[in-house]
Amino acid sequence: MSRWLERTRLEDASTVLRRALAAGFLPPQEPYDPYAAYNPSAIFHDLGRVRARVAELDASFPAGTLHAVAIKANPVVEVLRALVQAGAGLEAASLEEVWLALEAGCPAWRIVFDSPAKTRDDVASALAHGLRLNVDNFDELDRIARMLGKSRPPLIGLRVNPQVGGGSIALTSVATRSSKFGVPIERRDEIIAAFEAYPLVRALHVHVGSQGMPLETLVEGVARVHSLREEIERRVGKGRIHTFDLGGGLPVAYRPEDKGIPLSAYVDALKAKIPGLFAGDLALVTEFGRAIHATAGWAVSRVEYVKQAGDERLAVIHLGADLLVRRAYRPDEWHHEIDVLDAEGRPKTGPTEPVTIVGPLCFSGDVLARNIVLPRIEPGDFVLIHDVGAYTLGMWSRHCSRRIPLVLGYDGDDLSVLRYRETLHDVVAFWSRSRPQPSRNES
Ligand SMILES: *Cc1c(COP(=O)(O)O)cnc(C)c1O
Repeated sequence: MSRWLERTRLEDASTVLRRALAAGFLPPQEPYDPYAAYNPSAIFHDLGRVRARVAELDASFPAGTLHAVAIKANPVVEVLRALVQAGAGLEAASLEEVWLALEAGCPAWRIVFDSPAKTRDDVASALAHGLRLNVDNFDELDRIARMLGKSRPPLIGLRVNPQVGGGSIALTSVATRSSKFGVPIERRDEIIAAFEAYPLVRALHVHVGSQGMPLETLVEGVARVHSLREEIERRVGKGRIHTFDLGGGLPVAYRPEDKGIPLSAYVDALKAKIPGLFAGDLALVTEFGRAIHATAGWAVSRVEYVKQAGDERLAVIHLGADLLVRRAYRPDEWHHEIDVLDAEGRPKTGPTEPVTIVGPLCFSGDVLARNIVLPRIEPGDFVLIHDVGAYTLGMWSRHCSRRIPLVLGYDGDDLSVLRYRETLHDVVAFWSRSRPQPSRNES
């Protein structure tokens, strides 16, 4: 049974939450105990589901394919560690993410370094560690070739923008004609010339976008770059392209009425349109992020207050635009289902009524949902926000300087801390004058 599209049912979240309550992770505020720290919110990540998805990737692609999960989707080191232990690699968008990957125990050859703005220090570090590297533009290629000198190159790929156009969300579409990522495919002749001039480039890389991309567009992007592979090999020799990196971008269904794209549908579409990809003479890499993590994560917050404002009944909770930046600023594009549980973590029942869920930040855009119909909410209840496993905590906003919440992981009956709630000291340290820059070899 595929778990690719699996989502968290309210009853299952309730079971896990009650286990967390029994373990003392989210003590209530009433009756008030001045010696017990109140912790009003937590994020839960289903590591079992994440592991199952890595296993499904392994089973769906040819043996030896590297599944490098995009760190930016969820940079919690213990989440990365679970991925690495499940056999995945990691895709890093910055040198900082490379360090997170190393901290999580990822072998260097399973790290794919993809930043579009690599400095000389970034490149030196990547070469020293022996990471895989995807080059964004010709100047970067030239820089790397000079820095390499005569030493043996790691696996170096060139990112090509297939220019297939955008999806339904402009901000996450990276393959428009003038996208900032990669070399546009309309510069075909220059790309082929670069492969002639730089024998160290042995891979092609394409990533079409994140959320809002139809399956056909994702596959078309890969197909265009694969046809370029054939053209390059006609010119510079068969076998020149050792690795083909397909990127990520499979979207996630955030609304119950949305169907989502099964992994098998994506792989079948690739096989039908681009049989050459699976002919056995090419090593493959994938870079999924959202599809692995988004529906594996959910968050709860106690309701602190319920109040009437104009015609609306407001429930004030402890997670808002700090965790869900995109939701707050572009609510039409970024939806999250919301449920309510009682103070003991049981799904609430009884008469329903409209309620507006607002976050804790001091700005009026901090609204998670307006006039949604839920069983009557009271202070001390839990609001459950679904599908927060990707591009939420990783985009945490420091507005109002609230502490990053506790992150718990679970797999079956196992429940563990992936990241403790930040302390007040952590926040003060964040905003304090920091140490002088470390020496070059530390970066
Ligand atoms: C963000 C990103 C990914 C992951 O995209 P998802 O939509 O989360 O699958 C993969 N590759 C690159 C280069 C990226 O920038």
